[in-house]
Amino acid sequence: MDYRLWIDGQWQAARDGAMMAIENPATQEVIAQVVDAGRADVDAAVQAAKTAFYDGRWSRKTPGERSLALFRLADRIEARIEEFARVESLHTGKPYASTSLGADLPMLIDNLRFFATAARDTHGSHAGEFMAGYTSMYRREPVGVVGQIAPWNYPLMMAVWKLGPALAAGCTVVLKPAPGTPLTTLMLAELMAEAGIPAGVVNVITGGNDAGQALVEHPDVRMISLTGSTQTGKKVMAAAAQTLKRVHLELGGKAPILVFDDADIEALASKATVGATYNTGQDCTAATRVYVQRGVYEAVQEALVAAMEGVKVGDPFTDDVEMGPLISQTQRERVAGFIARARSAGARILTGGGAPAGLEKGYYFSPTVVADVEQQFDIVQNEVFGPVVTLMPFDDEEQAIHYGNDVLYGLAASVFTKDIGRAMRIASELEFGTVWINDHMPLNSETPHGGFKQSGFGKDLSAEAMGDYQVTKHVMIAHT
Ligand code: NAD
Repeated sequence: MDYRLWIDGQWQAARDGAMMAIENPATQEVIAQVVDAGRADVDAAVQAAKTAFYDGRWSRKTPGERSLALFRLADRIEARIEEFARVESLHTGKPYASTSLGADLPMLIDNLRFFATAARDTHGSHAGEFMAGYTSMYRREPVGVVGQIAPWNYPLMMAVWKLGPALAAGCTVVLKPAPGTPLTTLMLAELMAEAGIPAGVVNVITGGNDAGQALVEHPDVRMISLTGSTQTGKKVMAAAAQTLKRVHLELGGKAPILVFDDADIEALASKATVGATYNTGQDCTAATRVYVQRGVYEAVQEALVAAMEGVKVGDPFTDDVEMGPLISQTQRERVAGFIARARSAGARILTGGGAPAGLEKGYYFSPTVVADVEQQFDIVQNEVFGPVVTLMPFDDEEQAIHYGNDVLYGLAASVFTKDIGRAMRIASELEFGTVWINDHMPLNSETPHGGFKQSGFGKDLSAEAMGDYQVTKHVMIAHT
């Protein structure tokens, strides 16, 4: 595997970039060296995408042709699914069998097939006579060259969530994966030609935050789509304002689970545990704040601790492992810092709280339950990004809704109750882009995913995502 930059349909050496090491978080070994792109590299990629956009090699293909190419791309990934899953696990530490091969890869292949279908959706393109003597046409056109910036927690899935709708809409792309997890995105780039996606339509530059910044500042990029932290979202939005780029921001989250006294507690404990430990809790929709009606607070504590202690943590390449390491030493120190501050503020650590015994190498962290927190604790207000849930009691519906909404984020939330009327009342009051009832976390290709408040704006998945990569042009024809 060649780890140079993928520009204009070929591997290109860095113009002004250096090299950077990619680490396996389960073994702490360096597994690859990739380019840390400089400004000249970013510019070369944007120029390739610009040429490819304006000569129409992709944007003027018929929707049917674009659709076929995206279906072929999904087929090519599926044909090499084990290899993609293996490399995804190597640079992220995700369990190979249960997560990379069992969940992430099948889902992202399905996402790509969804966008292959959406490419043929003519919704929003129509003609009509709205003034006597004139016909108006609405054309849905691709926005142009799009800069896409991805995070490390779902490297290939985030790349596909971005590429799928942009390519379906007819845009050309410069995609920058996160600094530590670029390998599967580079593998994907190499499949473009086989799928019939012309050179220059998809360009992949590896690199750090400066490479991302150069992409955001580039005058020929019409739109930036970022999935990352809220802090980065603010910087990207400010920088994009200089050239008035459209921005699409999928940012951090701090999902609450509201548990009422009529809930099925065993089911809640099992789903909250998956929600808190899937991808080692490094998920923007991760279950993080569990609020429990006072009468069942003790019972929920017990059930949740038992379920969290049942999660099998270990080597990502052992078949029955459900949770691997955190992404890095920095991340492990960050998670441990939240626990230490909560403990000294008076919270009780019911289970976990540090590295599990027997796993000396790798950035492992035990599933952790922290009880008796208060709403203003930083572990309740801020994104921890580790396998950690907090528990807090509430008295009534109004208080539960207040606690749920009382954070800066607004990505996802869930409610556990058998009372459907209550569930619907609460769903309408929660300020989150997704509200699950009696579950936490499932996503599908057809329904939109995206935040409210400081979790950002714009949607991934669904036909709405494709709309975000299009502009509407009005063409008016006089009948003379
Ligand atoms: P991050 O914000 O540190 O980095 C994300 C990407 O932005 C990286 O590629 C990085 O190099 C780039 N970047 C950083 N600074 C930049 C700048 N000034 N200009 C341009 N690009 C810049 O986030 P991360 O740590 O990689 O990912 C974790 C975060 O992503 C969490 O906050 C998580 O909630 C969020 N996330 C959100 C979603 C969602 O759908 N809303 C999905 C996954 C992850």
